[in-house]
Amino acid sequence: MNKQLRKAVIAGNWKMNKTPAETTALINEIKPLVADADCEVIVCVPYIDLAAALEATKGSNIKVGAENCHWAASGAFTGEVSAPMLAACGVEYVITGHSERRTYFGDTDVTVHDRTRAALDNGLKVIVCVGEYLEQREQGVTMEVVRSQTKIALAGVSKEEMINSIIIAYEPVWAIGTGKTATAEQANEVNKAIRELVGELYDAETADKAVVQYGGSMNAANADELLAQPDVDGGLIGGASLKAPDFAAIVKAASK
Ligand code: PEP
Repeated sequence: MNKQLRKAVIAGNWKMNKTPAETTALINEIKPLVADADCEVIVCVPYIDLAAALEATKGSNIKVGAENCHWAASGAFTGEVSAPMLAACGVEYVITGHSERRTYFGDTDVTVHDRTRAALDNGLKVIVCVGEYLEQREQGVTMEVVRSQTKIALAGVSKEEMINSIIIAYEPVWAIGTGKTATAEQANEVNKAIRELVGELYDAETADKAVVQYGGSMNAANADELLAQPDVDGGLIGGASLKAPDFAAIVKAASK
């Protein structure tokens, strides 16, 4: 992290876990542990838990996000939820392009772009996920893959939106939920390349201000080392975000 240039952001991605009652209980456990955080703290929860999360986080420093949104405002899309619906509930953030959405639910670079655009158009802040599969890393095409995913997601995103409303999460797919963390150097190398791409697409000021997280088995034990890297501006946390002490330890590491 470079705290002179950027504020770190720690976001939990709860995936398909927790009922509304469990959401209230977990947030009530997290709240006092992160109350003095010197970083942004977000919990991204299943749609069904958003109301409970918004209620439980009232008056606290924890922001609430959804895990996905549709690109259309409304219509015949059974089972989907739109960006204006999320905004109307008071949700502030949304994740787009998570590798589980790309792998299991057919999300493509183009639909990730469209979801991101819809979210921005409705005043939401977006955590855009990018990252390579293991075979792609082994084939030596990590940078091409990540650059292309990022470039397509950001097409048409203004400089102001990029600075104020976009967080990019570099999440190597082979490190998500596997316990295999990228080394701090691997994480920083790709995060730096993403920042350089933002510089090419916008300018040096935007690159300096861009928040680029790392995600992939970040936990209480490895957070310090990952977050000490100059281009790692926080983390998107899956498994460890479901345990209040672990999530709080990562927030503490980002607050140093
Ligand atoms: C994620 O879901 O974005 C993630 C990084 O998961 P985990 O921390 O469990 O690898």
